Amino acid sequence: HADTAMYQAKALGRNNMQFFAPAMNRRARERRELQRELRKALAEKQLSLHFQPQVELATGKVLAAEVLLRWRHPRLGSVSPNRFIPVAEERRELMISIGDWVLEESCRQARAWLDAGYPPVRVSVNVSMVQLRGDSLVDHVADVLDRFRLPPNQLQLELTESVLMSDVAGAADRIRSLEKMGVRISVDDFGTGYSSLSYLKDLPVDELKIDQTFVHDLASDPDKAAIVNAIIRMGQSLNLRVIAEGVETSGLVDYLCANGCEYAQGFYFGKPVTAKRFEGRFLS
Ligand code: C2E
Ligand code: MG
Ligand code: MG
Ligand code: MG
Repeated sequence: HADTAMYQAKALGRNNMQFFAPAMNRRARERRELQRELRKALAEKQLSLHFQPQVELATGKVLAAEVLLRWRHPRLGSVSPNRFIPVAEERRELMISIGDWVLEESCRQARAWLDAGYPPVRVSVNVSMVQLRGDSLVDHVADVLDRFRLPPNQLQLELTESVLMSDVAGAADRIRSLEKMGVRISVDDFGTGYSSLSYLKDLPVDELKIDQTFVHDLASDPDKAAIVNAIIRMGQSLNLRVIAEGVETSGLVDYLCANGCEYAQGFYFGKPVTAKRFEGRFLS
């Protein structure tokens, strides 16, 4: 924390200020540079989408594709969304431009797959808190569905718990409008956010996505297995679909099937790939 760093620097003596302040300035400068580069990235087509299968365990069918944003910068190379999304979120209009672009390209792709005669595959798009806070998301979703003549149930939005819990005025109403439109709502990274679960009864959520930190070492960690089982039971009682994320081994698939989890996503089924590869591997 910046204040703490300053406090410690002061406590260490006046000269140390000169050591801490430049480090903070450098980080701020790096973030501003990334923001500048991201604005260019949109215009210069450095952004692209990858798709990862979401599978029904009982049938092995690919029902959906999570859309994951990729950025290849000419000098910096590939930059992870874990790094650039939080930086984009600091600039509201930047995150909204990027989010709008992702939504539009995702629906364009879903339409292209339908036109090519592939079985319907839902696109599952990550939505930032910044997008939900803005007042254009609902209209933008309606517009894009309309423009690509996409049935609304072919679009799913992944929101994290912090987004769903945020008491930002209007957030709940926006989620209800999206659900009324027929768009599905999934709770991403479920279990890592807030401890209050009351939003699950107040908001029209369709799906819980068990966070991969619980799924990964569930076999060796009984506490994580207990959490995963509790989430599966809760989903059953509340009539919510439950999908496990980060499934990497057949052992995990067996465990999830035996414990009543119906859907899964992870490297075991396939890594995120380009639309072309996704077609070849999962739709043909
Ligand atoms: P997320 O939405 O929870 O996405 C899941 C992440 O886990 C993805 O990382 C995916 O590649 C990775 N993953 C999937 N299966 C496995 C597995 O079996 N093992 C392991 N180790 N990892 C797996 P990725 O693509 O790097 O994305 C990271 C995060 O960046 C996403 O987490 C999401 O929060 C954010 N993100 C990505 N694309 C977008 C976007 O278009 N909009 C927004 N707002 N956020 C995005
Ligand atoms: Mg996600
Ligand atoms: Mg997740
Ligand atoms: Mg995540």
